[in-house]
Formats: sequence, structure tokens, C-alpha cells
Amino acid sequence: MIAVLRLGHRPERDKRITTHVCLVARAFGADGVYVVGKIDRQLLAAVERVVENWGGPFWVKFIENPFGLLREWKSAGGKIIHLTMYGLPLSKVLPSLPKSNSILIVIGGEKVPPRYYSESDFNVGIGNQPHSEVAALAICLDRISERAWENKVFENARLVIRPSERGKEIVETGGKKKPF
Ligand code: SAM
Repeated sequence: MIAVLRLGHRPERDKRITTHVCLVARAFGADGVYVVGKIDRQLLAAVERVVENWGGPFWVKFIENPFGLLREWKSAGGKIIHLTMYGLPLSKVLPSLPKSNSILIVIGGEKVPPRYYSESDFNVGIGNQPHSEVAALAICLDRISERAWENKVFENARLVIRPSERGKEIVETGGKKKPF
């Protein structure tokens, strides 16, 4: 199981970026995203629409107690990776990650409280320049999965894309896993 913990979501300001966090998490192989804060129904509806059309499974859960989640995650034997520009390179950390473990990837918003740095198993930098939680998450999932996400087949998709050199080809699956 790979899950993401998204800190610092402000419904009025971060809707688009948290939606992008969820879309990247789903497309690059995570099982779901925990978002800290009050339920944002617009965000949930946007992700639900994507899952209905393009398949799942994939979940988004709003939580009020992120440190409770970290505690539970660790006591169940999972590992926590906090993505931060101050962290160690992912290539150094990857060999220490047991393959079978559950991984929780923590990504921040504006300012991440120091406690996340001490409670995470690994503080990982995707490079040591400031960029974006969306980019950091995408690269982290790509490396952790060793590109397995590229061959992922989503369940119960209503639509799939037939890749083409030019133009847009969208195919209705009619319930088939491989409609072409
Ligand atoms: N000072 C922050 C930091 O610790 O990375 C940058 C804040 S940035 C607006 C929001 C989030 O993007 C961070 O909390 C982190 O999860 C992610 N992020 C930005 N640059 C990153 C990098 N080079 N490596 C890993 N994560 C990064």
C-alpha cells in the first residue's frame, strides 16, 4: 500500500494544487490520499469524477489528526517518507526501503512543522532546490514503483485513451479491461 499525506490544504486557495496532488497520486500508483483539514466536497467530487471515468480503485480521506495517522502507520510496520527540499537524496534512501512495506509519503504546503521532520523515517529531497509538492510526489512515486505505474490497468474504467501519434482518441470500454 502506498498512500500520500497532504498537509496544509486551504480549500479557498489550494483546491487546484491538491486536486493535482490527487490526480498525480492516482496516475502514478498510490492507493489514496489523506488530506489534513475539513472536508472539501468540491475536491472530493472532482476526484470521484476522474475515478468514475478513468477507473480506480483510489480514495481520498480528510483527517483531523495527522500525527495520529503517523503513529498508526508506524505501529502497523509502515514507513514514512517526508518530501522536503532539505532532505537526503531519494537514491540514498531507496535501498533502505523494504519492498513489502506500506509507505506513507508526506508532502507539505507553505510551512511544515518541525515535528514531521523528526517523526518521519526518511526526509527526502527530490533535488535540493525549491519546486512543488506535485513534481516531488510524481518523481518519488516513479522511483519507488520502478516505473510499474506505466503498465497499471485501472479497474472499472468507463473510458480509456488509445494512444495516437496525433489527435485525441478516447474509447468507451463497455466494461472490458482491454477494449482494443
Ligand atoms: N520549504 C519547503 C520544503 O521543505 O521543501 C518548500 C515548500 S513547497 C511550497 C511545498 C512542498 O513541496 C514541500 O513541503 C515539499 O513536500 C515539496 N517540495 C518542494 N520542493 C521539494 C524538493 N526539492 N524535494 C522534495 N520535496 C519538495
